Formats: sequence, structure tokens, C-alpha cells
Amino acid sequence: MASHLLNNMNTQQQDGIVTVDGPVLLLAGAGSGKTRVITHRIAYLIEERNVPAEQILAVTFTNKAAKEMAERVEKILGHSTLAMPTLATFHSFCVRVLRRDIEALQVNGVGLTRSFAIYDETDQQAVVKAALKRLGIDDKSLKPRVALGRISWAKNHMIDPQEYFLASANPIEEKIAHIFEIYRKELAKANALDFDDLLLETVRLLKSSKEVRERYNRRYRYVMIDEYQDTNRPQYELMKLLAGDHGNVCVVGDEDQSIYSWRGADIKNILDFEKDFPNVRTIRLEQNYRSTQMILEGAGAVVAQNTQRKGKNLWTAREGGSLIGYYEAPDGENEALFIADRIKKYLREAGQQEELPRCAVLYRTNSQSRLVEEALRRYQIQYHMVGGFSFYDRSEVKDILSYLKLVQNPHDSVALGRSVNSPPRGIGKTTMETLERMALTTGISTWDAIARATEEKLLPARALTALGNFRRLIEDARAMLGPDFAAKLTEDVGGSVTEDDTDFNFVTDQVSDVDGGGDTSFDTSSEPAPEAVVDASFDTSFNFGFDFGPSEEISTIAAENATDSDAAHGIDVASFNPFAPALSTKRGAPAKAEKPSPLAQSEAPSERPAFRTAGEAATLPELIKFLNDRSGYIRALEDEATPESYSRIENLKELANAAQDAQERGETLADFLDHAALVSDADSYSAEARVTLMTLHAAKGLEFPLVFLTGMEEGLFPHSRTITDPTGLEEERRLCYVGMTRAMDTLVMTRARYRRRYGSDMPESSMPSRFLEEVPSRLVEDLGSPPAQPQFGRGGGSDYDSPFERRNRFGKGQDTDGGDRHYSYEDEDQSGQGGQRNNNLRAAALGRPPQVGSGSMD
Ligand code: ATP
Ligand code: MG
Repeated sequence: MASHLLNNMNTQQQDGIVTVDGPVLLLAGAGSGKTRVITHRIAYLIEERNVPAEQILAVTFTNKAAKEMAERVEKILGHSTLAMPTLATFHSFCVRVLRRDIEALQVNGVGLTRSFAIYDETDQQAVVKAALKRLGIDDKSLKPRVALGRISWAKNHMIDPQEYFLASANPIEEKIAHIFEIYRKELAKANALDFDDLLLETVRLLKSSKEVRERYNRRYRYVMIDEYQDTNRPQYELMKLLAGDHGNVCVVGDEDQSIYSWRGADIKNILDFEKDFPNVRTIRLEQNYRSTQMILEGAGAVVAQNTQRKGKNLWTAREGGSLIGYYEAPDGENEALFIADRIKKYLREAGQQEELPRCAVLYRTNSQSRLVEEALRRYQIQYHMVGGFSFYDRSEVKDILSYLKLVQNPHDSVALGRSVNSPPRGIGKTTMETLERMALTTGISTWDAIARATEEKLLPARALTALGNFRRLIEDARAMLGPDFAAKLTEDVGGSVTEDDTDFNFVTDQVSDVDGGGDTSFDTSSEPAPEAVVDASFDTSFNFGFDFGPSEEISTIAAENATDSDAAHGIDVASFNPFAPALSTKRGAPAKAEKPSPLAQSEAPSERPAFRTAGEAATLPELIKFLNDRSGYIRALEDEATPESYSRIENLKELANAAQDAQERGETLADFLDHAALVSDADSYSAEARVTLMTLHAAKGLEFPLVFLTGMEEGLFPHSRTITDPTGLEEERRLCYVGMTRAMDTLVMTRARYRRRYGSDMPESSMPSRFLEEVPSRLVEDLGSPPAQPQFGRGGGSDYDSPFERRNRFGKGQDTDGGDRHYSYEDEDQSGQGGQRNNNLRAAALGRPPQVGSGSMD
């Protein structure tokens, strides 16, 4: 029976679709239609085999993949069916099972109930801390997050506390085993599960209760798993349990794309599948439908360097195609601008032909997104981040920014609240509540409340010591900025409040905390940009749409507070002025009026020196490094020693790089904070952005017509942590293969010859990634390697100076449209000529190039 579902499918794919009874193992390279087989198989079961949709379960790894699969199935089925199959991630499926059946695990009525809580990281930490306390372990000698990391590792390998204890090789590991045991009991007592437990408990449930297992086997008669190469042990067990007696399980994967070994994913699961299901039908697909021949050959050549693989042939009918582009940027900033420039052109040109032009910028480490984000904003290109936050919204970045805000203005209570106990330094909630109450009732800032509490010994000695250390840290940081800066606070807030001081709005308080999970999108052009920033004489008075009431009222409150508090407590005006943060922000940059927007890189360099006076004061990156170290923040992350914590460290180092860039633009600390506030502005949310930014890990399973693979440098990709370890290196290479094979039509690989490392003023030179060398040169087109452009991005030129407009000089790009040689935003700018100046300033504040007039180039 020929089904329309088999149309346009090759024989092997058809095989995969119609072999619905019994176990199927579909192993095939990237883009060969594995996921497509799953979706068509689902439709086939429903349409041709009359299987009720609710009897079908398909599991994949990420929410995005699950969503995409659902969309594909819906498209095939149209509206012919009301019921939909279950398309879930492992975790969401497990939650569903447990919410229904977890009580079957109770013994004599004891055990978790269906209303169990799911503990997040904060909850988990609290439990571990309590366990440490109970065991009398100092949380400095064993960090809670370290213990948690180990516990999670054990769970992903299905090791229980007792086994952990038996296997432990040193006293620390033994302690962790104890903590593990307490942790487990505490969660049970609290009727709670953590993320890893969701899987483990589902496995335990299905193993221990025949009744429940059989019910699920009856319910889900057809089970499919995508991205099978990345399953870990609990997931493997779950698959086996779900396969039950019917054994109708189809797993699809590609051993060359196994990239999650650090989460316990085990290639052995593929081998074991054939052992556990001896009657398995193994299918291999060899035709790639996604990519052009150039891309496929390039990717194939890279992964062929791995020794731990079976090897396979993959071919595509899409002969030829454009060569793989390679661009060698002088530095990271230029690399990002090159990408933004290319994307701009692509969107403009492809927009007319393709229904939905889409492209992706992929990078190895999260911290690399910062430069790309800033470049895209400059070009006013909407983007969307998958599986992570925009750089300035990441919690560790926000934490260190809070320190910086405190350095700028110690009376910023929000910043103080955020930084005072991160990393944990024994300043608890009660202490903070006491201080905040004190601040509120006496009209002083929390910062001053600390001083008073210390003076009058209003808190336990331990808390006071911790607070004293914290205060000293901030004061030392302020002192680093030189006497001028340290004196500024007094000067800023010591004077009387004039009317002039009232027409500002908070900048430093724009803490829109969006910590949590999920995707974040930024749409920098569809939403009207934040208003204001139109007055060249005062470019930090951003109005975020808050209404602080009439200015007279503000001055009255401020003045009243002043008199009141001054008289009663003998404290300086700043301490109780409710507007102190903004006041200091404004006054903290006294020379604003003379200086063009700090973010307008195109304008003449500032005459005003940065806060750094005569070489004696610290630079911005030095300040950040100092805070990173002295606060213990980096050390805490190092102790954690998980891939996540390393990624956080990289983000903090990248923040220092951002600060070095700011320093070179002549920005002050206040300017830098303004910049961060603007860039993280989350007003502009759009999930429809056509540009996706993500790590290579998050890109698995996806495809885009245009893909940029960035940061192709030794030490970055392959990552320095893997270079000495052959297994790790092979996994990096697989990651490279995953990245390259995301591209359908065009693949561009980029690298920076020099890259900043941790706020250095001299970027370090880098070696090209070995993966680049593994791509045969006949497949590569050199898109240029411009010399360093010292004037670029350093506030040097009088016009915005893009290196990419001068293709005739050094670019060999395919893009030879001579017509569009200027950065003009006229096509988007509705405001006409009259609004241009304001728009330029606004653009500048948002970090994009202002318009340049015709003929100003070259
Ligand atoms: P990955 O390993 O990256 O997950 P995959 O093997 O799952 O890749 P798919 O995403 O299913 O591959 O397919 C890749 C692309 O090829 C998709 O756009 C898909 O629609 C298309 N494709 C697959 N098979 C065919 C076919 N027989 N005819 C036309 N297009 C196909
Ligand atoms: Mg796939």
C-alpha cells in the first residue's frame, strides 16, 4: 500500500517509517532525515495503521526540539485528527507520569504524594547547606554547589548514596556521600524531587510497579526517541521500561553527534540497544537532504579525523553550492561586526526570495554572545537566544554589575541587596531585613545602616564581621578609582538638592531581574526604543517610562528628608535622599555635557579624561578583576567545577573584556553601567526574530539556511579544557560536526586573530582552530582578513567606519553589490530627516552606528 507519507522518501527512510512493529535502530548522519522519519512514522501510524494518536509517544531532548516536532507532525496530519500524540522531553514526560502515579511508590502509606514539589537550584542549595551544618562541615571547606554537582553526577549515573560511599576514594567524597544521603532524606520529607529525580523516580516507579508499567505499556504502544546518542543511563532504562513487552520502540541517532558525555550520555547505549533487543532492525540512511555538497564534505572531512567512530558515507544531491566562507577578523569585535553586516545583507536580500529567511550564529561558550549581541544591536537586527539569557541578563553578570553599581554609588540599596551575600558570606536574610527596616525607619540608606549597626553593635558579632568585610571590599574598590572618585560621593550628595536635580530618572535601578529558565528574545527594532536620549547635552537621562511624579514633589520630599534626617541623626544628605542612586548617577558623570554619548563610537573621542587620573587609578577591567577575586565570586565558581560554573566564569571574564572596550572608548564607570542597563533592556521581546544565537550544544537537531560558526580558535574551540584529552577532543570535533551540519546553504566560519582574555588591554593572539585546518582548502573561500583597524570602535573616526564596506580594498566576499555602500537606516527610519539627529543619538545610546551621509566613505 503506497501511502502519500512515503512519497519523496528514499527506500531506507520508507523502511524506517513502515517498520512499526518491533525495535528499530536508525543510525545515520546529520541531515539524513532521522527526525523526518520519526514525524512521518507518527503520521503513518495514525493514518495508515489506524493507531489512536494517544498511543504514540515521541521523546526528545529540548523543549525546542519537542515543539518543532509537534509542528512538523501537525503539518503532515493537517486537521485530520483531533487527538495529538504525546511529544515530550524526557523531563516533561516524567513529570506527567509522576503527577499521576507517584503514590504507587508509597510503602505503607509513606512516600511522595502527587502534589510533590520540584526543587530548583536555590532549594537544592538550601538543603545541602543544612546538611553541611548538621554534619559540622564548614561550607568553605566543601562548597554546597560542589556537593550538589557531585550528587547530580551520581544520579545521572544511577549511583545511590551507599554506592557512592563505597566507591569514595577520599574523605571529601565520603562526606559527599553523607550529604547525599541526608539530601535524599530531606527531599523525601519535603515531598520534593529535584530535576534528576524526575527521571530516576519514574524509572523506579515503572520498575517496581508492574501494574503501573503495564498500564503505560498499554497506553503507549509505540515509542520513539530522537537524538538517542545523547541518552544517559536513566534515560536508557526508561526507554527499556517503556518498550515493555511490545518492544515497539524506535530510536534514532548519530554517534558522530554525541556531545553530552559530560552529562552522563553514553555511547554504550547504542551498543546495548542491539544487545538488549536482539531482534532489532537496524537501518542506516546515507543521503543528506539538508546541506550542499560543499558543506557536507567539509563537515565530513572534520569528523573523519576522529578515531572513535564507525564511519559512514553521506552524500547529497545538492551538488556544488557556495564554498564554505572563512573570515579572519583582526579581533573579536570586528568578527562580530562582520557577522552582523553579513546578516543585515542576507535578511535584506533573502527577504525578497525566501519565505522565511533564518540564520544562526553559533559559538562554543556562552560568553561569546556578548560581542555578537552588541554588534546586532548596533545594526538594529532582531535576535533570539535559545536556551539562555542575553549576556547582561545572566545572573553572574548581574551580580558583578551590582558590585559595580555599589562602587559607583554605595547607597544603591537594590545593588547592595543583590551583591551582599553572593557569593554567600554569611549575611543572612534576617540580617538584611533588620538593616532594611532600620534604613526605612530612620531614613538612611542600607549602606549607612550597616555603619550604624556596626557602631552601635546592633547585630550579632558574626554578622557584623561579615558586613564589615563587605563594606571594606566596596570601599577598597572605590579607593582603587583614585582620590577624585572616592571624594565624588561626598561631593555628589553633599550639596543641596536643586531643581536641576529633579528631572532625572533612575538608571542604576533598572534591575529587571529575569533570572529563570527559557528562551529570551530581544527585538531591538520593532519596539520603539526607550525615549529620551535626545538631549546631546545630557545623555544619561534615560526615561524608561516610569513616572516619578512632578518634579516639585520630588524636591520637596528630598528636601524634607534632608532637614529631618540631618537634624535628627547628623547624617549627610545622601544617606536618606530617596533619589540618591539616580542623583549620584547623574552627578557621578560631571563632564557629561561636554562629552558625546559614551556609546556613540563614531563621534570624536572625548576630551574629558576617564575617571582614571594620571595613571594612578585603576582601569575598569582592573576594577572588575578586583571584584571578581576579592568577592570570592570566581573562586566559588571554580570550586563548583561544573561545565555550568566554568561557563559563568567565562562570562565574568567577558564582562572584564566589555569593560576594557568601554575603557578604550573613554567611558567612565557610570557610562559603563548605563551601557549595560540599556543593552539588557528587555522591553523588546520577540520570539519571531530571524536570527538565532546559541551555543553549539543547543543547536543540535536544528537547521538554518545560513550559519555562522564563530571563534574558530585553538583554546576556544576546541576548548582549552579538552585539548590535552583525546576523548574530550573527539567530542569537541563532534561538536564542530554538529555545528557545520546545521547549515543548509551557506556556512561561514570565523576567527579572531587577537582576542581579549579577561580584560587585557592587549588582546592575545590566537591560533586558528585545528578544525579549520581539517576542512580541505578547495572547499573554502577566503572572505578576507583585514588588518587591525585601530580606529574602529575606538571612537577614532568622524564617521562610523565599517571595515566591511570596503570590500574592494580587502574583502573577497561574494557579495559584490556596489550600490549599498553606506550604513543607512533610512529603510527603517520612519521619522524623516527632522528626526535624524535624535535618532542618531538614540541609536548611539542603543549601541548602533548612527547614519552616515552619502559619500562619506573612502
Ligand atoms: P540531525 O542529525 O541534524 O538531527 P536529521 O537526520 O534528523 O538531522 P532531518 O532534520 O530529519 O535530519 O532532515 C534534514 C532536512 O532534510 C529537513 O529539512 C528535512 O525536511 C529534509 N529531508 C529529509 N528527508 C527528505 C526527503 N526524503 N526528501 C526531501 N527532504 C528531506
Ligand atoms: Mg534530527
